Amino acid sequence: RIGTAALAVQVVGSNWPKPHYTLLVTGLCRFQILQLLKEKPYPVAEVQQLDRLEQFTNGHKSEEELGELSEQFYKYAVQLVEMLDMSVPAVAKLRRLLDNLPREALPDILTSIIRTSNQEKLQILDAVRLEERFKMTIPLLVRQIEGLKLLQKTRKSKQDDDKRVVAIRPSRRISHGSITEDEEEEEDHDDVVMLEKKIRTSSMSEQALKVCLKEIKRLKKMPQSMPEYALTRNYLELMVELPWNKSTKDRLEIRAARIVLDNDHYAMEKLKKRVLEYLAVRQLKNNLKGPILCFVGPPGVGKTSVGRSIAKTLGREFHRIALGGVCDQSDIRGHRRTYVGSMPGRIINGLKTVGVNNPVFLLDEVDKLAKSLQGDPAAALLEVLDPEQNHSFTDHYLNVAFDLSQVLFIATANTTATIPPALLDRMEVIQVPGYTQEEKIEIAHRHLIPKQLELHGLTPQQIQIPQVTTLGIITRYTREAGVRALDRKLGAICRAVAVKVAEGQHKEAKPDRAELGEGEDCKEHITEDAKPESISDTADLALPPEMPILIDFHALKDILGPPMYDMEVSERLNQPGVAIGLAWTPLGGEIMFVEASRMDGEGQLTLTGQLGDVMKESAHLAISWLRSNAKRYRLTNASGSFDLLDNTDIHLHFPAGAVTKDGPSAGVTIVTCLASLFSGRLVCSDVAMTGEITLRGLVLPVGGIKDKVLAAHRAGLKRVILPQRNEKDLEEIAAPVRQELSFVLASCLDEVLNAAFDGGFAVKASLEHLNSKL
Ligand code: ADP
Repeated sequence: RIGTAALAVQVVGSNWPKPHYTLLVTGLCRFQILQLLKEKPYPVAEVQQLDRLEQFTNGHKSEEELGELSEQFYKYAVQLVEMLDMSVPAVAKLRRLLDNLPREALPDILTSIIRTSNQEKLQILDAVRLEERFKMTIPLLVRQIEGLKLLQKTRKSKQDDDKRVVAIRPSRRISHGSITEDEEEEEDHDDVVMLEKKIRTSSMSEQALKVCLKEIKRLKKMPQSMPEYALTRNYLELMVELPWNKSTKDRLEIRAARIVLDNDHYAMEKLKKRVLEYLAVRQLKNNLKGPILCFVGPPGVGKTSVGRSIAKTLGREFHRIALGGVCDQSDIRGHRRTYVGSMPGRIINGLKTVGVNNPVFLLDEVDKLAKSLQGDPAAALLEVLDPEQNHSFTDHYLNVAFDLSQVLFIATANTTATIPPALLDRMEVIQVPGYTQEEKIEIAHRHLIPKQLELHGLTPQQIQIPQVTTLGIITRYTREAGVRALDRKLGAICRAVAVKVAEGQHKEAKPDRAELGEGEDCKEHITEDAKPESISDTADLALPPEMPILIDFHALKDILGPPMYDMEVSERLNQPGVAIGLAWTPLGGEIMFVEASRMDGEGQLTLTGQLGDVMKESAHLAISWLRSNAKRYRLTNASGSFDLLDNTDIHLHFPAGAVTKDGPSAGVTIVTCLASLFSGRLVCSDVAMTGEITLRGLVLPVGGIKDKVLAAHRAGLKRVILPQRNEKDLEEIAAPVRQELSFVLASCLDEVLNAAFDGGFAVKASLEHLNSKL
């Protein structure tokens, strides 16, 4: 019940990789516990100070005896210290301490330094009387001196080891219970030996082996409390774990690959064809230095899942590295080991995770790499992707080369516009366009619905989703190029049905029990929890829902709420000054409204809707062209003048104002919208258009036609006005979509306006009209 009161001077340590703390304390005095007040969360007790008191009260009593004792003790202590290497500063300091400190303090200090068991230390602590303490410590000192003498005899050469035995021995750990310091140290030592063995038997490169052996040598000499110990050890463990020479065997068979790809994915013929070509070349020429495939397309069109299928067909491990938002090159290439908390980059980490050196790595979202002060991650990726360089990729953390040439890299992106050109140059871009409604229905019924049913523990006997319902979800509840939102909506339906089915099971079970089973098909739903006493509950007698639950439009409305996209198009086109354009975004094609209004003013043009410079220029071009052609088309401002901007301000707005828009392809839409405004006529409500304009009224080709046409089709429009020179792009569009839309190919703005207004907008027509008026 005796302890030492101490003052905590310093606490050092960390929680990583495992909790390890060093506590530095200064002992003050002994105390005795009088009464334990509470034990949790930490003990609190009433104590009495024991030390020092004695010194004053009965210190003088046996002075003579004590003097002798302390003198004897002092002599032994000096003898012991002088046996050590005095050139070590700590030893020299100890020697000085022996002279400077009061003799009464020496037994405590020396006991803590010399090699004693915990038991012995506690005995000294318990010895409150000074005299007793001296008497008990002297034999320990003598034992230590004898031990040292013996040691010096046997190991004369290793003098500095002796000094470690006594003086430098750090009293760093407070050992509790059964594990003593020695045991722990031995254990750690064993670990290091094991690690060394692993390093020697691993198949790492010669260069890496050299580095590892050097590091392990350092590790052996290092005290464990040093932060660097854990770092070095982690490093070595990673080096051992890395798959230097371990690989899976490729099983490449083109026919099987075709089947896997077809089974996993519906449609996307172009992509599948290119992937098969790529794999075929692999099969014929066992050389991996092919181009890196980069799938570019809107979200949810199956880019990632094709990557996964490729790994499956090759029998390789698959690992996805998400690069979105990565702005630090150390993310790719690792941190140097000099930094605290340094770690390897994602490539090396991925290799460690998969455990083989020839996985398929999917670099997801390469277009979303960012630059920052910490360097350019795209530049770091160059080294990874370049077949000429990546056989000796050097991660900063490893600091030795690792051969990445066996890794198959596939990249995905939403757009090529933001991929750094140097990176793009090393990749072969394969466009993955959005799906048509028909394709989406097929994908839903072949892949998404079965997957969702399985996820929710449902069977086709319990739920039925007819194709019209799927079409309803696609047109009224989603507006996307891919199928991700569709997948989510199907998930929501399955969840709702799962509740019904689970409730139904509960209800069915009870009547069944009561009537001992009437032989109906719900027998299988009898469950253990059906207790006869709850039958009296009238609610339970309600009929269970009929299986399968059919999802029709009413059910859709119940589960998903009112339709999100409905009739928007025709409602918005019921006044002059509105037209529908087609825009391309990284998320696929979209329809875009353009609105215009005019008011009294000084001829100013206001543009809103977060437009880029190119778009603003298109608006100015459109106005200039209309002004110069106002007479021809009989366009007038509010007061009937052909000078359209005379006393008039124009405001053009592109709704969805939070999204930045740019690009030249809105030119024709702006012209049509303004023509409608100045002529007072309505634009046809089922026409969408795209195309760049020139000052002289020509229509120039634009990009992303396939996505744009699909967007128009999704929105239920019937006619699409495209630049003449984009005719060739129409071939890429699936036949069903082409049949449902009528295309107008325009080479000049006259043709655009004629197609956009019911009954045309031709010059001649308006002149005739004028003539007849006269
Ligand atoms: P991305 O990587 O292009 O954003 P994902 O690969 O994550 O898209 O695809 C989203 C989901 O859609 C996945 O569950 C995938 O299986 C499914 N999917 C997409 N396209 C198809 C397709 N053609 N056939 C079957 N499933 C598809």
